[in-house]
Amino acid sequence: MTDDEPAGENPPVRRVSDWDADRLVDLAGEYDTPLYVQDLDRVRENCERLRDAFPDADLRYAVKAHTGRAVLEAVREAGLDAECASAGELDRALAAGFDGSRIHYTAVNPPARDLDYVVGVAGAEPGLTVTVGAVDTLDRLAERGYDGRVCVRVNPGVGAGHHEKVRTGGAAKFGVPRDRAAAVARDAAARFDVVGVHAHAGSGIDPEQLDSHRELVARMGELSRELAEPERDASGGTEPVDLEYVDVGGGFGVPYEEADPPLDLAAVADATREAVAPLPDGVALAVEPGRYVVADAGVLVTRVNTVKPTPAETVVGVDAGMTDLLRPALYDAYHPISNLGGGRSADGGDAAPADRSATPVTVAGPICETGDVLCRDRALADPVRGDLLAVGVAGAYGYEMASQYNSRPRPAEVAVHGGASTLVRRRETLADLTAVEREPPEPAASEADAVERRGGASERGAAADRDAAPETDRGVRDR
Ligand code: PLP
Repeated sequence: MTDDEPAGENPPVRRVSDWDADRLVDLAGEYDTPLYVQDLDRVRENCERLRDAFPDADLRYAVKAHTGRAVLEAVREAGLDAECASAGELDRALAAGFDGSRIHYTAVNPPARDLDYVVGVAGAEPGLTVTVGAVDTLDRLAERGYDGRVCVRVNPGVGAGHHEKVRTGGAAKFGVPRDRAAAVARDAAARFDVVGVHAHAGSGIDPEQLDSHRELVARMGELSRELAEPERDASGGTEPVDLEYVDVGGGFGVPYEEADPPLDLAAVADATREAVAPLPDGVALAVEPGRYVVADAGVLVTRVNTVKPTPAETVVGVDAGMTDLLRPALYDAYHPISNLGGGRSADGGDAAPADRSATPVTVAGPICETGDVLCRDRALADPVRGDLLAVGVAGAYGYEMASQYNSRPRPAEVAVHGGASTLVRRRETLADLTAVEREPPEPAASEADAVERRGGASERGAAADRDAAPETDRGVRDR
């Protein structure tokens, strides 16, 4: 499916080649690499396109795609609510100025600490909604004295998404089973203010998977009618449940490969409205995309530090790896890569990328893992040491999944807006790597303990200690 929208004011996709290469080079010069660049204007455009496609729906941004404060503020100003998956995300949404009534906390096996925090926040922000996918979680909320707004998450029995690891809709982990959903919602209504039902098919739904999306939406529409009209409901309810909305999740895909067409959002919206209809009076449709809002608003800029021709392949070593952008290693995900140039070849050549031949290369990061590659066998304008590469469509689940594995500080992030740029996350330092560590026990003391233990034990006791020790331990002790 393609979007007919003219590529003028607000094009349906921004490709890596659409970024201003000179500006990315300047930003890398100013802030160093690896560097995430997030364009807040593009975030706003994506929000606008969603609003145009779903003018009457409740729009919620799935914060997990990118929780940076600047992004959250842009999304809030654009009028979307926040869908949060943890106490941490909720805390960040509040810090970015979201009112409690615009926050939807989706609890997935929530740790006690998260529930304590959320119930505390709801005391001050009674408009907050907790979306719950297990009866146990309802009980745990009630135990904490919570009787506020609840949405019941349903396992719709149908999933979709770009990779099996992100197809939540069919996974038992998420939501109450569909055949029990009506009964669970009715029981919950006796203890809480049940305001919605929710399901999410998965992440990165492409045009070929729209049938699954449509099926999920139809099932959710049917559930809302069962709850509004108890006589339709086999669970034996007699009282209608006064729903405000049916949330059919997010998952709208974005094109990663250059040749992939963008999602026809208007067609998706039409199909969604059609499949969910007729909604009971007063019940709104809600959607909660994450990726769609931020993915093409972000790039990761990285610098080539090593070019290694081998008989098998040419390996281009860069300073960003799976700790900066995990998606290729985790999901075999494709990210477009463009060579911005700036380097100098071994023979002193510094030709612009457009004047170089395209060479198939593997782009590999600095992490000691075979899977730490950003792409394989990809034709790039012959990379040389010092070149900058722009890794496109990196704004969603990019920085969010970054880690400090191999003791690598996480990268910096700069937000661009109009002609300005602002450093919104400083680059981590080596000191950040150990900031949460505490002093280990004094080696002298533990050594003294060990000596005392050894000396105090009878010969028989020492032998028993040896027998109880694991193989490897024993070997060490015997030596
Ligand atoms: N809602 C829920 C409950 C999710 O788990 C997710 C992603 O995992 C989303 C929304 C957003 O998905 P996407 O970023 O693909 O739109």
